[in-house]
Amino acid sequence: MKDKLDAILNDGRERIAKAMTVIELQDVKAFLLGKQGAITEILKEIPKLDVSLRADTGRAANKLKDQFTALIDSRREEINIKASEIKPDFDLSIPGAAPAGGALHPITQMCYDLNDTFRSLGFEIFQESDISSELYAFDNLNFPPDHPARESMDTYWLEGHDKGRGGERLCLRPHLTGASVRYLQTHEPPYRFVYPGRAYRNESTDARHERAFFQYEALIVDREFTFSAGKVMIKSILSKVFGRDVPVRMRVGFFPFVEPGFEIDMGCLVCGGAGCSVCKHVGWIEIMPGGTPHPNVLRAAGLDPDEFTGFYVNIGLDRLVMMRYGIDDVRLFRGADLRFLEQFK
Ligand SMILES: [Zn+2]
Repeated sequence: MKDKLDAILNDGRERIAKAMTVIELQDVKAFLLGKQGAITEILKEIPKLDVSLRADTGRAANKLKDQFTALIDSRREEINIKASEIKPDFDLSIPGAAPAGGALHPITQMCYDLNDTFRSLGFEIFQESDISSELYAFDNLNFPPDHPARESMDTYWLEGHDKGRGGERLCLRPHLTGASVRYLQTHEPPYRFVYPGRAYRNESTDARHERAFFQYEALIVDREFTFSAGKVMIKSILSKVFGRDVPVRMRVGFFPFVEPGFEIDMGCLVCGGAGCSVCKHVGWIEIMPGGTPHPNVLRAAGLDPDEFTGFYVNIGLDRLVMMRYGIDDVRLFRGADLRFLEQFK
C-alpha cells in the first residue's frame, strides 16, 4: 500500500507542476481529490484491508490529501503571479509620444470672433439646417421664377427625397438668407440676429470660389433703422476683427431680396492695394453685400413693410479670413493639409 501511495504522490506532483492555467489546475484537483479521485479510491479500499493496517493507511491517505491541497494552492499562486507579470520587453524609461493637440479651424475662429462682436452689440446667434427649400431659398426672397440662380447650374437640388412641408423642392442652401425669413416668422419684433453657416453652389473652383463656403449674415429689422447706423456698425465690426482701421468703400449693388442694395468692399490686405490674384488685381475685394430687406421679403415674413424697415449684410467669412492672414487661395481652407492648418494654432 505504501508503494501505491508513493506512486500517487509522484504522479500528482507531476500533474500539478504541469498545470499552466487555473482551469488546468482545477482539472488536476478533481482528478486527485474529487469524488472519483485517487485519494477517495484509497479511502474506499480501507475497510477491505487487514485491521492492523487500516489506521496507518487512513492517516497516510489524509496526509497525502493535505499535501496535494497545499501543492495545488501554491501552484495557483504561482500561475496568478505569472499572469500579472509585466513583460521584460516593456521599457519604462523610454519617453512617451505626446498626443497631437487640436485647434480650431481659422474660419471657425473668425466665426467665433464675429459672434463675440455681434453679441456685444446685442445680437442673437441663429442656426439652421443645411437643407433648405425652394420656398425659403428663392420664393420668399423675391427671386422671380425665371431668375438664373434657380437653375441647376448654381443650386444643388435634392432628388429622391421628401418634399418640403409646403410640397416645394428641397435643396442644399445656396445662401443663408433663407434663414432670415424663418427667423422672422418664428420670433417677435424687433429683430437683431446673425446666422453663420455653410452654403453650397455648383460652381467651378478657383482662387476665390469654392463649391461649399461659409457665410455670415446679420439682420436688423425694426420700426426705424437708418443706413448710417448700419455703416457705423460695420465699421466697428471690421475694426474689431482686424484690430485696426480698414479702408472700406460702399457702392450700389443689386440683389432681389434687398431694396436698396449695396456692396461693401474693403481694401485688399493681401497685397495692400497693389493688386493680386485674390483681389483680381484691383486692390479691393467684395466682402459684404447688403441692403434694406425688400418689401416682399418682409411680407413673406408676415411683416408690414410700411411699418418695418431694416439693415442686412452678408459677410464673406472665407474672404475675411483670407484678409486676416494674407491667404491667397480659398481652396487651402478645405484641403485638409495639416502643414497649412497648423499655422493657426
Ligand atoms: Zn490684393
